[in-house]
Amino acid sequence: MSRKFKIGIQEFESCGKDIINLLNLRPEMEKLLKNVEITLLGYTSNIDWSRYPSIKIREEISETDKFDVILCIGSILPGQEKRIHDLRNKTIQIVAVGACSLYGVRPSISTSGFTNEEWDEVEKVTKNKVPEYQDLFRKSVCEIVKTEYRIPGCPIDEYSFMKFIYDLIEGKLPRLEVAPVCWECKLKGNECIFMTKGIVCLGPITQSGCGARCPTLENKPCSGCGGLLIDANLKEWYQMVLKYGKTIEEVNKFFVSR
Ligand code: SF4
Ligand code: SF4
Repeated sequence: MSRKFKIGIQEFESCGKDIINLLNLRPEMEKLLKNVEITLLGYTSNIDWSRYPSIKIREEISETDKFDVILCIGSILPGQEKRIHDLRNKTIQIVAVGACSLYGVRPSISTSGFTNEEWDEVEKVTKNKVPEYQDLFRKSVCEIVKTEYRIPGCPIDEYSFMKFIYDLIEGKLPRLEVAPVCWECKLKGNECIFMTKGIVCLGPITQSGCGARCPTLENKPCSGCGGLLIDANLKEWYQMVLKYGKTIEEVNKFFVSR
């Protein structure tokens, strides 16, 4: 009998949307379970896991554990670094799943422009004093350990994720189409709200994979949770922003208010 492909899932600090998306994939996962063993190594979301009996829950990792891949969801708070290093030593591959895991998300993004002096000041005032402030020191998984793959999105797109897992299990090199959200938006036949209404949209510079979820389902602009497209033409995008009479202040406001 061929060896089972072992997948571990670790949820760090997260809103729970990515875990819920993984649960929504349960029927597909169950099919995979014929050849795959899924172990939940830790979670923070309040989910009734007993409803998913085929997913093992075991937070302890032993000397002999070895996973083919560990999916890491969420961002890392101070004190959780050891856990992610321990997981790194137990797996062939780590996949960062979702925007928090890739970028650390809001606290780390909003503080990423701090100078060293500003950080020193923040640390002096907050560190070890008020636990809630520890949130400011969140990091992404990718900042702490090497990751083999990164799946963007907030939350991740279920079908892109499943395609990724199938490819991985079949030994193919999982690949994300390098194309902007606009590509998927056009395929969906949406009217472009940037071009027709001048609503600032990050679709032209954001990695696709979500099916252009925001413009399609909510008629809202893309706020960039897929991450910056590798060859994003920022200059051209900014020219478009100016063309529609927006100022740099308005664009910045757009970024921080999302
Ligand atoms: S609405 Fe946004 S994502 Fe869609 S085509 Fe226009 S700029 Fe691109
Ligand atoms: S449209 Fe943009 S913000 Fe919305 S899910 Fe897709 S990448 Fe994220």
